[in-house]
Amino acid sequence: MSHHAGRHFLQIPGPTNVPERVLRAIDRATIDHRGPEFGLLGREVLEGMQAVFKTRSAVVIFPASGTGAWEAALVNTLDAGDRVLMAETGQFATLWKNMATRLGLQPEFIPGDWRHGADPAAIEARLQRDDKHTIRAVCVVHNETSTGATSRIAEVRAAIDRARHPALLMVDTISSLGSIDYRHDEWRVDVAIGGSQKGLMMPPGLSFNALSDRALAAAKQSSMPRSYWSWEEMLVANKTGYFPYTPATNLLYGLREALQMLLAEERLENVFLRHQRHGEATRRAVRAWGLELQCVEPAEYSNSLTAVQMPAGHSEVAFRKVVLERYDLSLGSGLGKLADKVFRIGHLGDFNDLTLLGTLAGVEMGLALAGVPHQAGGVTAAMNFLATGTNEATRTIRTAA
Ligand SMILES: *Cc1c(COP(=O)(O)O)cnc(C)c1O
Repeated sequence: MSHHAGRHFLQIPGPTNVPERVLRAIDRATIDHRGPEFGLLGREVLEGMQAVFKTRSAVVIFPASGTGAWEAALVNTLDAGDRVLMAETGQFATLWKNMATRLGLQPEFIPGDWRHGADPAAIEARLQRDDKHTIRAVCVVHNETSTGATSRIAEVRAAIDRARHPALLMVDTISSLGSIDYRHDEWRVDVAIGGSQKGLMMPPGLSFNALSDRALAAAKQSSMPRSYWSWEEMLVANKTGYFPYTPATNLLYGLREALQMLLAEERLENVFLRHQRHGEATRRAVRAWGLELQCVEPAEYSNSLTAVQMPAGHSEVAFRKVVLERYDLSLGSGLGKLADKVFRIGHLGDFNDLTLLGTLAGVEMGLALAGVPHQAGGVTAAMNFLATGTNEATRTIRTAA
């Protein structure tokens, strides 16, 4: 392979670019995970993760991909054969549903068109009909990474409340945590699932569950077999900052650094505003190109990624190949039934105005090079928005802090 000068643009919606500071933090000798220094590190990152999830309840950290934390959510709280209500928002919701089936649960999938978030009214209607309360959990993907649609979790919570239904609420925040506002306690979510490699600006390898008192009570009753994923021993060891088995020590050094950046330096509310601005700038570019957004509901536009439809008869695989070879820019592929129909621009994590403009320039030049019908001017539309945009709002929040 020939050498590409300059930085590779990793603009898939996760894994995202890891800041130099986080890489340097990871690049240290591994310490004794039963020694005194580790206990401090463990407590610090567990507390930091509570702040990121906006919860006072426990958070657990697994040395695993996000998929592991999906499994942990299900096997710690449910019993074999339990009915779970899931919303078909896209490929990630589908994978989580397939996992539930393989684990011996009975998922019921509320159909969706892969262009919207979960429908709170449909969830409410289904729960209203479940007068015997056989549905044990409602599972929703907060930010559907295959489509760029964000589900309205506060409204899903309100729908469950209106139905007076006792089902647990489980939310996958893997591609929203640290980029789109998520409020675990305020929305009374029982189990949240997170991953390190998206908004948290970390390499892959850590995943998270944020719990609630109801989730802990359900865990006491639940009879599904579990060992590695069990919260029980994890929570006992975590009290003093330790883990029941070897944690991913070096990744936790990196997490401590990323939490310092997100919570103490930039601060979460500013992080969310930054992502909101970049989401809007990207959507303006897509419209200027004359291309269509996969997400059709403005209230559900994702601020961490944008999925763009290819014009009929044009392949996203061929387009992304041109962009990678010519500009050293990686874009996200179409997933599941959107394969070869949609490409995705990741604009989350360690990302600023010029990273976005470089990315959009790569897309615009790539569209021309690959012969994809479009209009020029997407980069200009984004630039115009970024020059005026919501800088003012961002500044107001910063100074009010
Ligand atoms: C990335 C992602 C996953 C899968 O996470 P892995 O770390 O690849 O296991 C699940 N859900 C959503 C919403 C994601 O974005």
